[in-house]
Amino acid sequence: MLLLNGNQVAKIIKEQISQNVLKFKEQGYRLPHLAAILVGNDGASTTYVNSKEADCRQVGFNSSVFRYEETITEDFLLNKIEEININNEIDGLIVQLPLPKHISELKVTQTISPDKDVDGFHSMNLGKLLKGEDTFIPATPYGIMMMLEIYNIETSGKHCVVIGRSNIVGRPMSILMSQNSKFGNCTVTLCHSRTKNLEEYTKNADIVVAALGKPEFLKAEMVKNGSIVIDVGITRVKDDSNPKGYLLKGDVDFERVKEVASAITPVPGGVGPLTRIGLLKNTYKSYLKSQKITGFE
Ligand code: NAD
Repeated sequence: MLLLNGNQVAKIIKEQISQNVLKFKEQGYRLPHLAAILVGNDGASTTYVNSKEADCRQVGFNSSVFRYEETITEDFLLNKIEEININNEIDGLIVQLPLPKHISELKVTQTISPDKDVDGFHSMNLGKLLKGEDTFIPATPYGIMMMLEIYNIETSGKHCVVIGRSNIVGRPMSILMSQNSKFGNCTVTLCHSRTKNLEEYTKNADIVVAALGKPEFLKAEMVKNGSIVIDVGITRVKDDSNPKGYLLKGDVDFERVKEVASAITPVPGGVGPLTRIGLLKNTYKSYLKSQKITGFE
């Protein structure tokens, strides 16, 4: 069984990015810059934003975090986004979700300039993804695709089952796996909460991507011998014996499924670091474009 190590993949890509950023700096270019907006004090959101800042530091990017109380108005937030949209020193902007109920996530994601939408949530970027055009791919599916490439996993002609149809994970993942590309070309089945007899699909899958947010949902009896299992789920499960008071659980019953799978991602240390890499890579792409730097990827 091959353990698909997200931390290892992240390390390789971070090294590539930071070496290039150093070169650009020596040539007199400014540094890439990612901005994040954080509304409210949600624990998980704060952790995510802090880790995104740490990632930026590691690869030599600048980062800014705009922190606001959860009582801010929608107009205030949209105006702030517009300001960042026209700031030539900033390459990428993310607004950490979820937002307070009185602020429309749709309006927010549509207000971010498609050129700085490094989360890849804007309809224009999702549309480009659908058509196979160059775009910002949502960070989690993008990170997973980079992992498939680094491990050189053969996907062509395989049956890939994606569980979950969210716009940020399941649906874009299903598009990428079905695309006519080196690490795509799968026959894809997209399963969701209304799918009947889900195990009939997963049992016949060569690749399973579990992205439903139900801890240890995918059991060993639901997967085929030798399949590749990618666990996107992260759920905080209460655990008083842990100093943090919780444990992070994936959507896959890792301990048992690893006995059947030929390759599997762990939680933590699997898709989490890949998502963070997806975001860095999108910011880097945006920077290359804004600075008109060619010949680099
Ligand atoms: P979501 O809640 O938006 O979507 C969940 C999807 O799962 C829905 O489309 C729903 O139809 C499907 N679903 C729910 N119950 C199901 C069932 N019993 N059978 C089949 N399908 C079912 O969630 P999301 O934003 O796509 O995230 C999914 C999980 O991935 C969550 O645990 C989230 O925390 C995690 N996540 C992790 C990362 C990472 O970096 N590792 C990034 C994004 C999301």
